[in-house]
Amino acid sequence: MRLILLGPPGAGKGTQAKLITKKYNIPQVSTGDILRKAVADKTPLGIKAKSYMDAGGLVPDEVVIGIIENRLKESDCKSGYILDGFPRTTAQAEALSKNLKKMSAEIDHVIDIDVDYDELIKRLTGRRTCRKCGEGFHLSFNPPKKDGICDRCGGELYQRDDDKEETIYKRFKVYQEQSTQLKSYYSKNGRFHSIKGTGSIEDIFNKVVSVLEA
Ligand code: AMP
Repeated sequence: MRLILLGPPGAGKGTQAKLITKKYNIPQVSTGDILRKAVADKTPLGIKAKSYMDAGGLVPDEVVIGIIENRLKESDCKSGYILDGFPRTTAQAEALSKNLKKMSAEIDHVIDIDVDYDELIKRLTGRRTCRKCGEGFHLSFNPPKKDGICDRCGGELYQRDDDKEETIYKRFKVYQEQSTQLKSYYSKNGRFHSIKGTGSIEDIFNKVVSVLEA
């Protein structure tokens, strides 16, 4: 199963991707996670990407397209994957289609998770992540037992620089600029589904499963 999750920052793509990974045993391929790791490791890719990410902008298409092409060749992607945060532009979508054609593969489902703007702001500003294991928390909706400490591994929780209020607005603007075209690109092929991303995580996951198993 090859799946694309679309949606604005804070829609819950990463959360749903983790649940899909667990149920269907296919890897989550998140360009955001790959880029954040590269930034933390100070690799040449990370050094290049950091300024775009800190500003809430998009890393250039050719850079992320290269990342995805390499990642999809890895053996764990043979029986499928969930793309989370890629593609974000029509150029990326076109490059992906071309690459998949070469691999004689195609995308089975594109799921767009739709969430209202005010809800997104609440979600993003309260989001905290563990530096050590990557576990996600939320100050209001899913707070850690001990302030600033990961329940799972005891690691330190931090707020992503790009989840700070001033950068969030820039990320939304970038999303709005790209998403209409991107959704229209995928809605032409009949495998596009839009679901409401509000309610409990389980409710949303049930909607995702209904799409995947329809
Ligand atoms: P995310 O975790 O998906 O919100 O991504 C965090 C940041 O990484 C984004 O704000 C972008 O700067 C960068 N990024 C992630 N995925 C992409 C992509 N497909 N195209 C361009 N930039 C990306």
